[in-house]
Amino acid sequence: MEVTFLGTGAAFSPHAYNAAILIDRTILMDAGAPLTVHLPKAGVSLEEPRAVVLSHFHADHTFGIAWLILGRVLDHEDSPPLTVFGPVGTTSYLERLLDLAWGEEMRHYSWERLQLTVHELSGGDAFEVDGSPARAFRMEHASRMNCLGFTMERDGVRLGYSGDAKMSAELEALVAASDHVITEMTHDDEGGAIHMGRRDVEGLMQRHPSTRFIITHRSGNGSLNGAVMARDFLTLRLPL
Ligand SMILES: [Zn+2]
Repeated sequence: MEVTFLGTGAAFSPHAYNAAILIDRTILMDAGAPLTVHLPKAGVSLEEPRAVVLSHFHADHTFGIAWLILGRVLDHEDSPPLTVFGPVGTTSYLERLLDLAWGEEMRHYSWERLQLTVHELSGGDAFEVDGSPARAFRMEHASRMNCLGFTMERDGVRLGYSGDAKMSAELEALVAASDHVITEMTHDDEGGAIHMGRRDVEGLMQRHPSTRFIITHRSGNGSLNGAVMARDFLTLRLPL
């Protein structure tokens, strides 16, 4: 499994772009990075991703999908279909986002041309993304928003992704179900009200010693012993 980080910064990070992770060139986990620049920069055409998996509706995880969708339609005559997975409310969120970004006419046009299919997920739901079995976990992050993390099994690797999360029993379950996990660490020391800090991730690492940790969604430049610190355009081949 090949994992390329297209954005590893927390929402207002001065060091890195916003969240987007590309799996095997075909699956995007979150879409906060400027994808019309970062996909080509990573050597991937706009039409290669087959699925976008959104963890929640904050701008730093989603706004790039507006560029991906219309850019792909305008650049490619026969653009392959695109499937979007996300929390309950994803269809309406995408409609509003595209209306604001490009107007209603372009929203209808791109939706049709991409044969856009949306699957809305709740915590505990199993689904299949680009042929790989996956599962959604409910994460605790923004209290009035549906927030999800995911696990996905591909090439014998069980990869987890926290999205944005603070500590919870569901996050422990997600890590327990993963042999590699990409987890947020927004704060370099203590966790905040809606995000994790280094001490939270250290605790997770102690409780799940057989899981490899890859750290993303960072505000600062701190490091964490025993974990891989992701940075923009880092490519990893799993298993590590
Ligand atoms: Zn968030």
